[in-house]
Amino acid sequence: STPETFSDYESGGEDSYNGTKTAKEMIGAALQKHIQGVNPHECEDGAEDAFFVADLGEVYRQHMRWKKHLGRVTPHYAVKCNPDPTVLRLLSALGTGFDCASKTEIEQVLSLGVDPARVIYAQPCKTKSYLRYTAKQGVKQMTFDNTDELYKIKEIAPNAELYLRILTDDSASLCRLSQKFGASMDHTQELLTIAKKLDLNIAGVAFHVGSGASDPSAFIKAVQDARAVFDQAAALGFSLHTLDVGGGFSSGTFEEMAAVLARTLDDYFPPEIRIIAEPGRYYTSSAFTIACNVIARRTVEDKDLGITSYMLYLNDGVYGNFSSIMFDHQHPVPQVLSTVRRPDGFNYSTESLTDSGYASAEEGVADTEGKRLIDYSIWGPTCDGIDCIAEKWTSRETVDVGDWLYFEDMGAYTKCSATRFNGFTDKHETIYVSSEPAVSDLIKF
Ligand code: PLP
Repeated sequence: STPETFSDYESGGEDSYNGTKTAKEMIGAALQKHIQGVNPHECEDGAEDAFFVADLGEVYRQHMRWKKHLGRVTPHYAVKCNPDPTVLRLLSALGTGFDCASKTEIEQVLSLGVDPARVIYAQPCKTKSYLRYTAKQGVKQMTFDNTDELYKIKEIAPNAELYLRILTDDSASLCRLSQKFGASMDHTQELLTIAKKLDLNIAGVAFHVGSGASDPSAFIKAVQDARAVFDQAAALGFSLHTLDVGGGFSSGTFEEMAAVLARTLDDYFPPEIRIIAEPGRYYTSSAFTIACNVIARRTVEDKDLGITSYMLYLNDGVYGNFSSIMFDHQHPVPQVLSTVRRPDGFNYSTESLTDSGYASAEEGVADTEGKRLIDYSIWGPTCDGIDCIAEKWTSRETVDVGDWLYFEDMGAYTKCSATRFNGFTDKHETIYVSSEPAVSDLIKF
């Protein structure tokens, strides 16, 4: 059963972590505990690898927030965003559905015991052998957006429940999808007519306003277009029952987007029409924090200006978990987790994460509190020059080899697209915590 309680996620102050100080503290303690056990100056190879702390309580809170603001819409978590097995177990226990893009994702979800009816194969251009697998497993819901796909589905999965994915205006999104997917409104009549001739089952309409969408009016236009397709389909004798409003939700703009979407849905679709969605980043982005070790440092002296800055090299970069910089247009923000205070020994600072530390630098310019700021650039571990995490970062702290930095909001489109380029690992440990006690009643972790 799905818990109905809400945590106080809306009451957080500026310095709170997604609304609860305890969440921030819990994550901080998990990060510190892990690094206390690793002395990069004498540890086993790989022991200082980057690692994640995942707060399952944050995923839980996001779900409760969804239910509060989009109660009519059943989320089908977009597995591609972060197929973390523990997150999937939690979402399954919370009763969400799942949006899968491939055989592997479908397999992973079904292996949790999820009913195939809770899965949508939301890839409009499917691999034939995956489609055969899907049909055998009883996953019936799937999207399409072109005639060739209809013939493919007729051949392999004639009993599928089809969602016609329509084009949207995704110009205000971070990752545009409409240049690749979606039938234009000029084309929907033809697609429905062919589906009718082929005796296929059109169950609904799907759209996606682009990942990281920021303009709520994109939802209004897409819902209106979907309504028009429902009407076209009805005229051809189909009885559509579901609208899939896709993903594109971000934590920071959720309430605003949800309010517009909920209102528009009620304006255009009667209550008997089932509404589903495919949120990805909304659920996981803020739940994951990554800690990386500083493996090298280069001192850069500008003799003319008399300024010293540093290039820091971390053991994770854009070919690894920071792939979100390239693929997802993100700008992860470094923060100091811990610095080694004694060069001759293992003696980490135990300052809390919110403590900005002390000024130990001789170089740099003064910040507003009169302390010195040091200029850094942050790089990944590969031999490629493109592997840059942040071209400019300033801190009061002197950061050196062996120190740790951490980055919040690293749960979406990060580890799922990490490579092993240059021989670095793409398997990083995840430490699970939960800032919501209710999570332990739902799953073991
Ligand atoms: N559904 C489909 C078909 C997608 O392609 C994507 C992302 O690319 C998503 C859902 C998830 O989008 P988001 O993470 O923006 O919610």
